[in-house]
Amino acid sequence: MPELPEVETVRRSLELLVPHKQIAAVEIFKPSLLSLGDEAAFAALAGGEIADIGRRGKYLLFAMQPEPLCWVVHLRMTGKLLYHQQPQPLQKHDHARLTFADGSELVYNDMRGFGRFWLTPAGPEGLAQVSGLNSLGLEPLDADFSAAYWQEKIKRRPRAMVKAALLDQTVVAGLGNIYADEVLFQAQVHPERLLSSLTEAENQRLAQAMREILQASIEQRGTTFRDYVDGNNQKGGYQEFLQVFQKKGQPCPKCGAEIQRIKVAGRSSYFCPHCQVK
Ligand SMILES: [Zn+2]
Repeated sequence: MPELPEVETVRRSLELLVPHKQIAAVEIFKPSLLSLGDEAAFAALAGGEIADIGRRGKYLLFAMQPEPLCWVVHLRMTGKLLYHQQPQPLQKHDHARLTFADGSELVYNDMRGFGRFWLTPAGPEGLAQVSGLNSLGLEPLDADFSAAYWQEKIKRRPRAMVKAALLDQTVVAGLGNIYADEVLFQAQVHPERLLSSLTEAENQRLAQAMREILQASIEQRGTTFRDYVDGNNQKGGYQEFLQVFQKKGQPCPKCGAEIQRIKVAGRSSYFCPHCQVK
């Protein structure tokens, strides 16, 4: 599933390609993709352009012109936004297509089909209509993010497990299963530890690990396991740097103990039983 580094990489790749191209047509082939706005509203974007591309958590925010609208995209499990310099035949699971006046196109493909689009008025009131967007916590790379912020947030749910809190987008936005496990390993915290049991030093290490790991992954253009690619159909490189995720049975890179997998908060969690004691 694309997490913050992958969505940011998609944003950066498309930012170099699609803004300020005149849109010739917008076609929605799978209307259930639309959470807000109908096919006619999307078709009416023709004649305008994408002014720029922002991101909040795992949401992509396309600022549209001339009518100030925001096209919001959440890729969920398998959504991809692919830029084609030349028009290409539609593929299976192509659910939407923006065609530009110069013949290039931006295609939304989604094998599992869980991704969503919203079309809202630009500005905070419009974005408030996008489910989940307003309740996002700070992102680890935000200037205001700190160990103090994290500690303040987790105070409200002392009995929750730390892995669940890392995945909770209202606590901290952008982490998913891959980076949560990597953060816990770097910080040497067991995924099932209760939030109330974390020491000041552990919380400091967690906050630092969140920042360092997301930054490092963005620099490697994200992690590709199965099918994540950016807007240029390029895979990420951070899978080469993962320490524990999907490494069950392999030696821990720090101590050599066997990496284990357990279910925490309904998700597979990989950890070292020696470096991350409960
Ligand atoms: Zn270890």
